[in-house]
Amino acid sequence: MGTYKRLPVTIVKGKGCWLWDQKGKRYLDAVAGIATCSLGHSDNSLRQSLTKQLKRIQHVSNLYRIPEQEALAQWLVEHSCANKAFFCNSGAEANEAAIKLARKYAHCIRGIDQPVILTAKASFHGRTLAAVSATGQPNYHKGFAPLVQGFEFFKYNDFESFEGLVKELDSNGPRVAAVLIEPIQGEGGINIGDRVFFQKLRKKCSENGILLIFDEVQTGMGRCGYWWGYEYLGIEPDAFTIAKGLGGGHAIGALMVKSHADIFEAGDHASTFGGNPFACTAGLTVAKEIEKRNLLSKVNNRSDQLKQGLVELVNKFPKHIKESRGLGLLQGLVIHEDSQLTAQVFAQNALQEQLLVVAAGAKVIRMVPPLVIKESEIRQLLRRLTATFRKIK
Ligand SMILES: *Cc1c(COP(=O)(O)O)cnc(C)c1O
Repeated sequence: MGTYKRLPVTIVKGKGCWLWDQKGKRYLDAVAGIATCSLGHSDNSLRQSLTKQLKRIQHVSNLYRIPEQEALAQWLVEHSCANKAFFCNSGAEANEAAIKLARKYAHCIRGIDQPVILTAKASFHGRTLAAVSATGQPNYHKGFAPLVQGFEFFKYNDFESFEGLVKELDSNGPRVAAVLIEPIQGEGGINIGDRVFFQKLRKKCSENGILLIFDEVQTGMGRCGYWWGYEYLGIEPDAFTIAKGLGGGHAIGALMVKSHADIFEAGDHASTFGGNPFACTAGLTVAKEIEKRNLLSKVNNRSDQLKQGLVELVNKFPKHIKESRGLGLLQGLVIHEDSQLTAQVFAQNALQEQLLVVAAGAKVIRMVPPLVIKESEIRQLLRRLTATFRKIK
């Protein structure tokens, strides 16, 4: 179907941070399958563990116990604030699970009949009907009415906007069940969460019995130089969702909950493929390799190098670029609002320099390279960005 506006390039092979098209042309990959290929392409350790897994077993269903799933759940619980995991296959699905959990929590724990979940403007939570209804960007809603009811939107990083909405909705008794929010808005333009805002948000949610649920689909699994984006903000959510980087390029998602939010019972929710041995081995291998290779500290070093280079780019091309912003290896260049240039056009032009970057909204050029990117490759990335800007009128 015509669901994607694809760039005119056909990728057939990858190794580390490099991709080859069918003519043998080599591209530097600062997209990494949209922040998914954490270990880069065709990583030896991931390939070996998945090959072994395929020889043993691929899929059995959640009718039975799955040791690979239990091992990944164990690892995630030991390395986060959560106590339990539910596995699915994507970010949208993880958020669907979170939305169902929030509603059940409201009905069963708090006795709310008409629960409302608050999300932020400019947020992105996925493309299934409930996840897109939770997404605070009207352009994603167009043509899909009637949307799923029970979502209201406040301004990101604006506590007054949030508090005002709670006051309004709770005026005839409590209705606000949960907040679903990204620690850094990815698709919405790489907007970094404000620590003070999030700390106030945490306090208000705790005082009012509102579940604070983080969408860590893009920010999680080391992308931001921490295992989880919430660590940067200095607070803990009651639950959070993950997907993208978890499988190193393989489909897997999860809803993680603390004990007090661990309310799903048998029959409440399910996924045929969720938590299958193959996907969970991918997840566990990615997690252990990030640890073994000390990638979190490497992400921070490469991030410093990239950020410094991006600041130089802002100074070199002030006509086009307004600023650079990001955390870890989730970085963006913001194009001036009144400039003709769009991030999509830039991504297209970057192909000439054999560089892959991806838009985050209309005006932000996003860079989310594999976490294994080397110092010399960051230099290459900056050189190719510069060359692309030079050719833009
Ligand atoms: C990509 C993304 C999603 C959707 O994930 P899919 O795997 O495409 O369903 C949800 N939330 C955030 C923050 C994302 O970046």
